[in-house]
Amino acid sequence: MLVVMTTHATPEQVADVCTAIGHLGFEARPMPGGQRTAIGVVGNDRRVEDSTIAGLPGVAEVIHVSSPYKQVSREWKPESTVITLDNGVQIGGDAVVVMAGPCAVEGPEKLLEVAGIVADAGGVILRGGAYKPRTSPYSFQGLGPEGLKILAEARKAYGLAVITEAIDQESADAVAEVADIIQIGARNMQNFALLKHVGKLGRPVMLKRGMSATVKEWLLAAEYVLSAGNEQVILCERGIRSFDSATRNVMDITAVALARTLTHLPIIADPSHATGRRDMVPPVARASVAAGADGVMVETHPRPSEAFSDGPQALYPDQLKKLMGELGVISGALGRPLATLPKR
Ligand code: PEP
Ligand code: MN
Repeated sequence: MLVVMTTHATPEQVADVCTAIGHLGFEARPMPGGQRTAIGVVGNDRRVEDSTIAGLPGVAEVIHVSSPYKQVSREWKPESTVITLDNGVQIGGDAVVVMAGPCAVEGPEKLLEVAGIVADAGGVILRGGAYKPRTSPYSFQGLGPEGLKILAEARKAYGLAVITEAIDQESADAVAEVADIIQIGARNMQNFALLKHVGKLGRPVMLKRGMSATVKEWLLAAEYVLSAGNEQVILCERGIRSFDSATRNVMDITAVALARTLTHLPIIADPSHATGRRDMVPPVARASVAAGADGVMVETHPRPSEAFSDGPQALYPDQLKKLMGELGVISGALGRPLATLPKR
């Protein structure tokens, strides 16, 4: 439930409404706006009896949020959430962001090389896994803390923001120390203990859609992070499983467009894990931006045949450059520029 106060409501009236909400056994979250204050009511998954609240002085309107996810819904917050990273790059604003990098951090020289390629192509966020949730326990599991150190160096060298995955609470704490965005992978989308934990770390979180998760389950997973106190959540559509093995997953383009109507949170598309094929990455990336994605995340590698993981879907550096140009044309047609790195 959302309590909208009148434009002339006094701070005392706002406080009284918060107290009344507390007496009903719920938590009040005041959200001051440019024109007027709205007070979110959390802690309820059933309809709140609103007559006592609606009659209080200064209350303009009581809105029942009809979706099961509350704080992530556009009903709760009509304006889009814009997340500003430490290097000044914004996600969810006018500009479309490109995140790129290898599947995994493979070593210091290789990561610096790829960071240079990403920066040169015009990317603003470097991706690379230090903790890799692999399907087989015998596959490369990532460099762990050493990988994070390497990411921090690349971040400093090129001014790129960094996104990397956390797989449990311990790695989340370590990732929060160095990364601009904590990635929660598809396999952990419903790891509720981890979601609550990253909700308390004060760092932006990118939540990838689980491979068999419905849009509703995905948004409810995001709700866990917001309800733990972190509103800086980015959603990422990375393809879902289907009966058809022609591509690694099936890119749910509709979910990209749908998410924009259901939620105020930014939405990123990952055509690399969605398709698993480098030749399919550019067209699906273009389609995602056309569908309204706030950005794309793509895997790239200087020599994909040598990649420790996901080589077949890694773009060659010249493909990344070409794709950036194409995305600029498409986003431009929609009145959105491509995000650039702030001058250093
Ligand atoms: C990744 O982005 O490195 C990754 C493992 O992706 P997903 O969680 O979408 O499979
Ligand atoms: Mn990968």
